[in-house]
Amino acid sequence: PKDRPSSTASSVSAASPSTRRSGTPVHRSQSKDFDDDNGLLVMIVDFDFEFKLIGHMVNWNFDIEFEFQIVIFSTDPGRVRVSVRVRPRNGEELKSDADFADLVELQPEIKRLKLRKNNWNSESYRFDEVFTDTASQKRVYEGVAKPVVEGVLSGYNGTIMAYGQTGTGKTYTVGKIGKDDAAERGIMVRALEDILASASSASSVSVEISYLQLYMETIQDLLAPEKSNISINEDGKTGEVSVPGATVVNIQDLDHFFQVLQVGETNRHAANTKMNTESSRSHAILTVYVRRAMNEKAETGTKSPKPESLGDKGIPRVRKSKLLIVDLAGSERINKSGTDGHLIEEAKFINLSLTSLGKCINALAEGSSHIPTRDSKLTRLLRDSFGGSARTSLIITIGPSARYHAETTSTIMFGQRAMKIVNMVKLKE
Ligand code: ADP
Ligand code: MG
Repeated sequence: PKDRPSSTASSVSAASPSTRRSGTPVHRSQSKDFDDDNGLLVMIVDFDFEFKLIGHMVNWNFDIEFEFQIVIFSTDPGRVRVSVRVRPRNGEELKSDADFADLVELQPEIKRLKLRKNNWNSESYRFDEVFTDTASQKRVYEGVAKPVVEGVLSGYNGTIMAYGQTGTGKTYTVGKIGKDDAAERGIMVRALEDILASASSASSVSVEISYLQLYMETIQDLLAPEKSNISINEDGKTGEVSVPGATVVNIQDLDHFFQVLQVGETNRHAANTKMNTESSRSHAILTVYVRRAMNEKAETGTKSPKPESLGDKGIPRVRKSKLLIVDLAGSERINKSGTDGHLIEEAKFINLSLTSLGKCINALAEGSSHIPTRDSKLTRLLRDSFGGSARTSLIITIGPSARYHAETTSTIMFGQRAMKIVNMVKLKE
């Protein structure tokens, strides 16, 4: 039933505190933004709040409705950062009449996303950043990745992950190379640009990368496809996760990184053609190792990261950290009803890694003392990037059409659970 005038989500313009003009009349009964029954008396120890006076001007009869809103949110710097980005419509979607604004309303100014649950109800969710289809790669990098990259440059481990249905822009967001068009560059390239800039200003910094693909619980080295049986190692004492068999390349400059990344992409394509699968079924994991020698005695140029060694007075000689940038497999459920044995096996395995990631996110969000990181290779790889002082940023990507209702809803719920994670739990088992 279309009893409301439709509007495009991104046409909403608002600055807080100010009057928001919207083509869609919003009635209290339709909005759970502000829940009179449960909304206010919540006590959060470490919090920040926003104060908003929002005017809804109904443009077809000049009614004005005001809403008074206090939004309380945790500002714990250890909380996982979660952002959402919608892909621009493609040709086919522009032609179709499926109305995205009926499903999702993006409110980037107040960092909220309103999701329609049914004909009567919509629910509003807060994110760290909300990116509309016009957001540039640069802005997305600054909102999603920069805080994590800065942490890595000051010695903290960091993880940036893209999660969402196939075709919603995960690879564009994190993996786009854009060698000849700087504006197009994704998070991987921009992160390396920043890290290399910091390294060139200090001769004692080394930058190394490895590039892996995880497919059906097998790790493949995208920089040396002939390698097999790559395994994950966990240091019993420090809890540090490493992949000793993976090729590690010392990166000199951005051009060198483009070359290496291109080799990785070519190998990824070849591997997937050989296995007769699509890259959307596998996870791509770029690891950047940053090592900063604290004095002249520090070792440099070593191939694989060693546990942090201490100098005479207990001062670390090498401060090292790593950044994981993960382009996750498509989150859509793979059709299990097919008779193709390979596809069924694949579905099971892909579900294993993503299901396991979801379970860890739920456990972390609930503050549980047991985080089931051992269930899959993906979560084992992420193990030392999930707890303690590590910084994590998740970008969820959604498609701009109401026809992806189920996947979009499930992606948003995944992101909302991750919003609750505070990275202060020391992972022990
Ligand atoms: P995924 O990795 O999630 O399967 P892709 O990154 O491959 O999705 O995106 C699907 C298509 O949409 C690609 O052709 C990509 O270039 C395009 N695309 C995605 N996001 C954007 C964007 N923000 N701006 C322009 N094109 C985009
Ligand atoms: Mg992709």
